Amino acid sequence: MKIKHIAIIGCTGSIGTQALEVVAANPDYFKVEVLVANSNADLLIQQALATQPNAVVIADESKYKQVKAALLPHDIKVFAGSKAVEQIVEMESIDIVLAAIVGYAGLASTLNAIRHKKTIALANKETLVVAGDLVTRLALENGVNIYPVDSEHSAIFQCLTGEWENSIEKIYLTASGGPFRGKTRADLAEVTKLQALKHPNWSMGAKITIDSATLMNKGLEVIEAKWLFHLKPEQIDVIVHPQSIVHSLVQFTDGSIKAQMGLPDMKLPIHYAFTYPYRIPTPFPRFNFFNYPQLTFEAPDLQTFTNLALAYEALKKGGNAPCIINAANEMAVDAFLNDTIKFLQIAEVIETCLAKATFIAQPNYEQYIASDADTRELAKQIINERYHSRTSN
Ligand code: NDP
Ligand code: MG
Repeated sequence: MKIKHIAIIGCTGSIGTQALEVVAANPDYFKVEVLVANSNADLLIQQALATQPNAVVIADESKYKQVKAALLPHDIKVFAGSKAVEQIVEMESIDIVLAAIVGYAGLASTLNAIRHKKTIALANKETLVVAGDLVTRLALENGVNIYPVDSEHSAIFQCLTGEWENSIEKIYLTASGGPFRGKTRADLAEVTKLQALKHPNWSMGAKITIDSATLMNKGLEVIEAKWLFHLKPEQIDVIVHPQSIVHSLVQFTDGSIKAQMGLPDMKLPIHYAFTYPYRIPTPFPRFNFFNYPQLTFEAPDLQTFTNLALAYEALKKGGNAPCIINAANEMAVDAFLNDTIKFLQIAEVIETCLAKATFIAQPNYEQYIASDADTRELAKQIINERYHSRTSN
């Protein structure tokens, strides 16, 4: 395999730092070309000194001077601002763009990378949730491959390798069930953010950890799967698998099922997205069957975790409905993390936004942007009017 020059967009986060471990483990195959962070200048500087990229970008312009000064003695270009985040992916020397910004904020840089024909390793699922039709169409027009980093979608992708001629009957996305699996709505009424942030199997950024606790993460993944694998809603099932060892499954039209397994370790899907179609050796820990004598599966509880049902509703509705639930979710999760609303109110905010925001059947890019902004405003209003007297967690 030829050495891959990689741009890590969101390098200081959970996925970004694990991607740097992947690169460090295989310096003969990977070289960091670009690092992009939002505001964590200290970590960005540390990473840049260790990997000596061609360029770094810090979105927060107030941190520019600090980063510039620290990297001055090195041959590393330094840029700042959100426009620079979007534009840096155009650099000719980049082979792969790892899209690992969290949330809607990742959309613009990913779209620009596709326009400039960069291979995408996609962690930022919100990109496909918000504007899946636009993103996949643009990728097709530019002959760009989007390789999934999300572990479930990487699993589906790995199961499909060698099966491109064969039709999928359905896929099963596995869900750990999060920290509140088995709880009732009454149990969930007063859960704290500290409890919600304690994921049983995965260590991830705060937003996706809350999404895992509400099952919205699985809802977003159902929508992500539709776009990545061209599936109808009824072809995508969710099963709860608390051990997070079977990362997802594909059922083919002959009834045969293929699954992909491994430890819950994001370095594996990140690595596969960088090396596809090859598999190259890694030093990461191996799965041991005898540590997991029981792998179990159960149905998701859609009555308690209504976010998953809402995501299916948005998927079936189509148009900008997924964009609406994504924006409402980002606002609601933020409000929960700021102690402004309670856990069960996250889903209430999303449900109200989905009912009230203007539906557009075939939105263009500008309409997606407007729909995201309008929904955020609507969510803010709902949160202020209904829940402003919230006591803290
Ligand atoms: P984190 O919150 O840990 O990291 C987010 C990263 O994005 C940070 O580097 C942050 O920089 C950067 N960032 C945020 N906003 C901006 C912006 N406006 N401009 C530039 N950089 C920005 O998130 P995760 O790593 O957990 O998740 C990243 C994405 O990957 C999400 O979409 C998530 O759903 C997906 N994903 C994550 C998994 C995981 O295991 N973590 C698993 C599967 C998917 P700074 O640190 O400076 O704020
Ligand atoms: Mg996932």
